[in-house]
Amino acid sequence: MSTVVVIGAGVGGLATAARLAAKGHTVTILEQGDQVGGKLRTYRRDGFAFDTGPSLFTLPAVYRDLFLKTGGPFEEAVDLQPLEPAFRYRFSDRSTVVMPGVDPARCAAALGAAFGGTAEADWRALMQRGGAMWQITREPFLQSPLSGLKSVLSLARNPQDIRTVAPFTSLRALGGQYLHDARLVTLLDRYATYTGSDPRLAPAVLATVPYVEQTFGAWHLGGGLGTLADALAARCTERGVTVRLGTSVASIDLSDGRACGVTLDDGTSMPADIVVANADAGQVYGTLLAGDPRAARLAKDLAKSPASLAGFVLLLAVKGRTPGIEHHNVWFPERYDAEFDDIFGSRPRPVQDPTVYACVPDDPLMRPDANHESWFVLVNAPRHGDGRDRTVDWSRPGVADAYADHVLAVLAERGTDLRDRILWREIRTPADYERDVWAPGGSIYGTSSNGSRAAFQRPANASPIPGLFLVGGSAHPGGGLPLVGMSAEIVATLVGRAPSESE
Ligand SMILES: Cc1cc2nc3c(=O)[nH]c(=O)nc-3n(C[C@H](O)[C@H](O)[C@H](O)COP(=O)(O)OP(=O)(O)OC[C@H]3O[C@@H](n4cnc5c(N)ncnc54)[C@H](O)[C@@H]3O)c2cc1C
Repeated sequence: MSTVVVIGAGVGGLATAARLAAKGHTVTILEQGDQVGGKLRTYRRDGFAFDTGPSLFTLPAVYRDLFLKTGGPFEEAVDLQPLEPAFRYRFSDRSTVVMPGVDPARCAAALGAAFGGTAEADWRALMQRGGAMWQITREPFLQSPLSGLKSVLSLARNPQDIRTVAPFTSLRALGGQYLHDARLVTLLDRYATYTGSDPRLAPAVLATVPYVEQTFGAWHLGGGLGTLADALAARCTERGVTVRLGTSVASIDLSDGRACGVTLDDGTSMPADIVVANADAGQVYGTLLAGDPRAARLAKDLAKSPASLAGFVLLLAVKGRTPGIEHHNVWFPERYDAEFDDIFGSRPRPVQDPTVYACVPDDPLMRPDANHESWFVLVNAPRHGDGRDRTVDWSRPGVADAYADHVLAVLAERGTDLRDRILWREIRTPADYERDVWAPGGSIYGTSSNGSRAAFQRPANASPIPGLFLVGGSAHPGGGLPLVGMSAEIVATLVGRAPSESE
């Protein structure tokens, strides 16, 4: 059995640690922040509670497997609740769809009832294609320690599989093949943002995202999704994992070209047989392994990969109840493309006419009483930086407050004016996410999937440095809780193999 150091207590780090400890390894997690969970956390104040990272939980099977294999059922560790309905979408022409929480056929019927024409049949056909893509990619790509477009192509069992996955077709183009109503195209486009991407560039295979959401359901965890981080940490502790908060790793140590431990920012060395990095891949190869030529090559490649979009977040403590609000709510703008131009274009700026997303859980554990609401509002944003290299400086005085006012005014224009009922608000900009959880530029998902190369060639879980493995949203197979959970399973399997096999 090995001594393992995990850098970072994000979901990927916690999930890998629990799996490895259950197999008998001696595991220590080092986390720079003062709490576990990374981007996954629930913020509480004055009886209000907000998920400040993930608010939509999908594909619980990934976490059912993790919890069962590490000591006990998932449902005993968290309060897993199906959402019914799951979403209310409002379009710029004021049409509205209330989307069921599960079942593509019911979702298609809801779209048909709202839009008429061929909407129901169109969505059904698209979800059938998404299902076929899921069958082809799930095991050989998402659940395997492989990366690279070549792997996907060689894994496809026959040319028909390649035609189904259409690796060089964009999500937008796929929508154009199936959907006749522009509102359906907008709805499909939104799923590109689930990987931090632009639908005009992201691959068609992202049609698996609505397929998975509608087939396996949209879920909430009672008390907030942050309870998953607590449950993971508890499971780690039960399995004997040591979790050290407030502990930053400054470098990964090498001996004969192999990872042999880490050095903390206070200079302390921690030897280990295996290092698992849950930190952003760009930090791993660019900073923690500075000077290593293998890492330098990867850092250079990563610097060329388009970053994922970031998020601008408002936490609103609201007095009274708002009519017509579901758990998840989306208000679309008139011109969705302008949003992606503002974020990914050569002159990025805070999105002028943004899609506004709000999670308003009808959960007694997340509000002081039945006459108040906790609003988590998320607007896609360009990543934070010094204003050069396609970034926006979100830390400049006044920028965040002015933009928060703008977002609330946009919401009011679209029919939901909360401004007189807000008791207090807090703002989380991409700069805050960068500072708190060390997400470069506040990117939600590491790199984006803009382009087939970016989508299929994320950093591999087994690094070229023996003894070093990468887990989490910036590594294969990608971001979001389901994929991060899958990356933890891949890494735990790789570490579990004899060193000669895994290197
Ligand atoms: C606003 C927002 C909304 C989102 N919405 C959803 C959603 O609805 N559904 C969904 O499934 N996903 C969503 N996501 C994505 C999801 O949160 C992430 O994909 C996932 O939580 C990332 O997990 P991770 O394992 O990569 O770790 P991270 O959360 O990135 O955590 C990495 C940890 O490593 C620590 N660390 C980094 N470097 C060091 C170092 N050198 N030394 C010590 N510690 C270090 C950091 O402090 C951090 O705690 C959202 C994310 C955000 C920000």
